[in-house]
Amino acid sequence: MVRWSLSAELFSAIILALLMLSYRGQKQAPTRRGQMYQICLWLSMGSILLNVLCVLTIDYALHLPLWLNLLLNSLYFFVVVVMATVMAAHLFELILEHVYDSHCLRKARRLLVGLALLFTAAVLWNLESGILFYFDDQNAYQRGPLNSLGYGFLTVELLALVVCYLRNRRSVSRSMVHVMRTLPPLVVLLMVFQWLYPEILLNGAIVTMADLILYISFQSRRVELDSLTGVGNRNSFCNELTLRLASRQRFHVILLGLQQFADINRRFGHQMGDAFLYETALQLEKYFPQGRVFRVGNVEFALLLPYPDDGGSARLQVLQDCFGRPWSLGAAQAVLSVRLADLLCDRADWTMGQVLEFLEYSLDLARKGGGEPVRFQAQAARLFQRRKELVALMRQSLREHRFRVWYQPVWDAANRAFTSAEALLRLSTPAGEPVPPSEFIPLAEESGLIDELSWLVVEEVCRLLSSGALPGLESVSINLSMQQFLDPDLIPRLRRCLEHYGLSPDRLKIEITERVAVQDVERTASVMAQLSDLGIYFYLDDFGTGWSNLSCALDMPFQCVKLDHSLLTTYPDNPQSCRLVHGLISLFHELDIQVVAEGVESQAQADALTACGVDWLQGYYLARPMPEEELLPFLQNTQKEMSPRV
Ligand code: C2E
Ligand code: CA
Ligand code: CA
Repeated sequence: MVRWSLSAELFSAIILALLMLSYRGQKQAPTRRGQMYQICLWLSMGSILLNVLCVLTIDYALHLPLWLNLLLNSLYFFVVVVMATVMAAHLFELILEHVYDSHCLRKARRLLVGLALLFTAAVLWNLESGILFYFDDQNAYQRGPLNSLGYGFLTVELLALVVCYLRNRRSVSRSMVHVMRTLPPLVVLLMVFQWLYPEILLNGAIVTMADLILYISFQSRRVELDSLTGVGNRNSFCNELTLRLASRQRFHVILLGLQQFADINRRFGHQMGDAFLYETALQLEKYFPQGRVFRVGNVEFALLLPYPDDGGSARLQVLQDCFGRPWSLGAAQAVLSVRLADLLCDRADWTMGQVLEFLEYSLDLARKGGGEPVRFQAQAARLFQRRKELVALMRQSLREHRFRVWYQPVWDAANRAFTSAEALLRLSTPAGEPVPPSEFIPLAEESGLIDELSWLVVEEVCRLLSSGALPGLESVSINLSMQQFLDPDLIPRLRRCLEHYGLSPDRLKIEITERVAVQDVERTASVMAQLSDLGIYFYLDDFGTGWSNLSCALDMPFQCVKLDHSLLTTYPDNPQSCRLVHGLISLFHELDIQVVAEGVESQAQADALTACGVDWLQGYYLARPMPEEELLPFLQNTQKEMSPRV
């Protein structure tokens, strides 16, 4: 009779018990992967205990009924089959985790079910034939001719796993690569050892080792989970994108940004805010079980889904419906406002970084838009590319000091001379093509470059004014964007700059639009008051466009209002336009505010405006914006003539 050593099995049972305790203690979010792993652990433990029981009953076979031994040993073989099948299925799922095409997984499952049925049939047939094991006349356990059939099946499963891994290795996660590099060789090694020393039972050791290797891989995955919501974090989103792009898969990504979430925190407290975020993750998982959910930013979630048959619009609709309804969490009820952006990747040649950029750019557009989802498409790609190139060009131009400040002389109607000018930034491509400020200024504001650019203009203007080269030029106005106006360093820095160049503050004028003025009325008023006290005065720019109203001009200390050129489109031919422009001029004069008419393009306009008492005229008819080197000859010439064309 064979005498078996159970020491490896008992040792394995202890390790397995520790593993089970440690796994339970982690309180991970219940995922399908986690549940499968737990089933594997229980089956492994069951098979080891059953094996130990079988060995004990075989030792006492003489004192036990034959049917009990037969039953226990058959049961053991059966549990081993189930365990090996479940574990192999789990491994297949992990290998193919990042492959949406389920063809390979279906094939693997069919193979596993086939093998399991075959082996179960062998176990049943063994009761009659004794091909796996039997009990001889003395009730002693004997190995049948096909006793090692289980190892045969295990080898087939291992081979199938290796083939599946090799075929899909570009999409296999790093932790699974680690599993596949260690598990098959170790299993083979143990099987050889078992074959050489059949009396040392190693079945339990093999499964425990497999469980242990998987456990280690799970551990490394925990850092990929978002601790608040239990869904994947940004890191795992990037990893998964990389894997899918590397294997040129087709997929659909939706980026979802929660809007005004600070309001939720303010209304219900941060704990409730966290609960709303958790609920968002739950809802996304509920509605999209076929995809994976990630929390990629504080209030941004990403959904990675299989390529849709219907273009993906139904999914966006589901999300809009879901977030359009009020959600109730305990006593808190709120509608979470979201913005959506999505992207279809059809085996595109993109990098993970590009996809992230595309998505964030599209979400940005969605945030600025009216609430409709924005899909990253060819047109968006072109815009995005242009934006990227422009930002790169601006950075390069800043580094290489290639930005230029041009000046548009402004005609002083009372003194009949160009006594002022507006400083306007100019940027050109390396090929010399000019880029319109209307295109690069908003981008500079978005990318934060505007600060550096504005100070560049201030420096240039102060240098020009202090050079004494342009004696007729009393002042120059500069345009300030929103960001500088909120900058606490604005006032001290302006003062330092003026002091450095020894300039009187009234030589520098600041133009702001109403958009800048109303963003934080109190702060703006205080900054304006402080600068006015210093002697730096303000112009309200673009009056007459969407960004202006009378109350702003009245409430804030503006020295001057610049009527936008859109007010002059039909001026002076259209009597309505004349009434409006003349009315505005006299109204502002009554309020002691001077008026600049911008965009004067004809003699008729200039004459009519001068006749009705406008203070300043600016426009192509009088002078176009020009570089510094042209400004001096221009001013000298016009001063000689005194009144050039007006
Ligand atoms: P803005 O402040 O309203 O500047 C006046 C714009 O009107 C300039 O366009 C100027 O070239 C243009 N203009 C002048 N006369 C005429 C005319 O007779 N007809 C027409 N159609 N246009 C005329 P530009 O230089 O393209 O600047 C566009 C905008 O870019 C500026 O509008 C300003 O908002 C912004 N910008 C330019 N330089 C700077 C800067 O240094 N800082 C900031 N923050 N913004 C700037
Ligand atoms: Ca301006
Ligand atoms: Ca303007």
